[in-house]
Amino acid sequence: MNLIHNYTFEDLQEILLENGFKKYRTSQIWDWLYDKKINSFELMKNLPSDLLTYLKTNYTFESLELVERQTSKDGTEKFLYKLRDGNLIESVVMRHHYGNSICISTQIGCNIGCSFCASGQIKRVRNLEVGEMVLQVLESERLIGEKIDSVVLMGIGEPFDNFDNVIKLLKILNHQKGLNIGARKLTVSTSGIVPRIYDFADLKLQVNLAISLHAPTDDVRNKLMKINRIYSIAKIIEALKYYLEQTNRRVTIEYILIEDVNDREIDALNLIELLKDVNVYINLIPYNKVLGTNYERSPEKNQKKFLHILKRGGLDVTLRKEQGHDIDAACGQLRSKTEKNK
Ligand code: SAH
Ligand code: SF4
Repeated sequence: MNLIHNYTFEDLQEILLENGFKKYRTSQIWDWLYDKKINSFELMKNLPSDLLTYLKTNYTFESLELVERQTSKDGTEKFLYKLRDGNLIESVVMRHHYGNSICISTQIGCNIGCSFCASGQIKRVRNLEVGEMVLQVLESERLIGEKIDSVVLMGIGEPFDNFDNVIKLLKILNHQKGLNIGARKLTVSTSGIVPRIYDFADLKLQVNLAISLHAPTDDVRNKLMKINRIYSIAKIIEALKYYLEQTNRRVTIEYILIEDVNDREIDALNLIELLKDVNVYINLIPYNKVLGTNYERSPEKNQKKFLHILKRGGLDVTLRKEQGHDIDAACGQLRSKTEKNK
């Protein structure tokens, strides 16, 4: 049976109409799902019995079972959830002065296989359904007892490898009758699947796009991300320019700093050369050590120097302050534990 949280407002409306129900029932159902946040059709008191029967026989609710909850010294929380089919996924909630943000997973495992990333060590098992992504937000909100204000798709998985579901998710999160989270508070991060960047641009959503570049040249990037052999840096930059033209939105470039791999002075200079005429914002992220890799975090003095060179070169850049490091909840450290359970 399909998850009731899999459908955008428009999709559900169409389904109801096709099945002989009134259009306005969509608002009522969504009110139960996203305002009252109930998880049973039985509780939808204002629906006629034929509609209830229809819903009950065709749709179901995903219930994420909380398997583990870890809280960091800085308030960051990591939730490990079990899905109906037994697969495990992780979400991380971070507390900021401007509100709560959640980092959610989009796939079980990831096929992109970047050499530095924990999630990439597990081959993709399957894509997450829309409802499984929506529920990460709803369930985490319930568990912390507070509203989530922003959502980043930076957990396990490559969002653009689960493109259609991710777009639906963004629509549900953004919809006024859905979770009503502003498009500018939603961020999708991709390893650079170029054709999907064009598709995303054409949708003209006002959602933030972040690109995991991590290197200024193909030489360096090939070592870190094998996907670069298919979608080179030049192709990515071209796609970014198209995205900018279509949406008028600035892209964020993510750049993890790994000692002696991409944090050298020459890398900073090459990055300036690459990006000086592209309207981007650069987010430097100190690498989080992952077991089973030989990469080390760039030392603090290299991080600062790198930042300084980029600034001097006229780039708009910040060095990200990390959260949740002590509970392995920082970016790229999630690994869904599927392997450990086999
Ligand atoms: N697959 C998408 C989104 C999930 S990864 C992507 O790659 O963009 C989210 C971010 O964490 C990416 O920028 C990724 O490169 C980064 N990341 C992965 N492993 C990391 C690590 N060990 N330390 C710091 N950042 C990491
Ligand atoms: Fe997948 Fe992103 Fe990790 Fe690469 S960095 S393996 S794309 S999750």
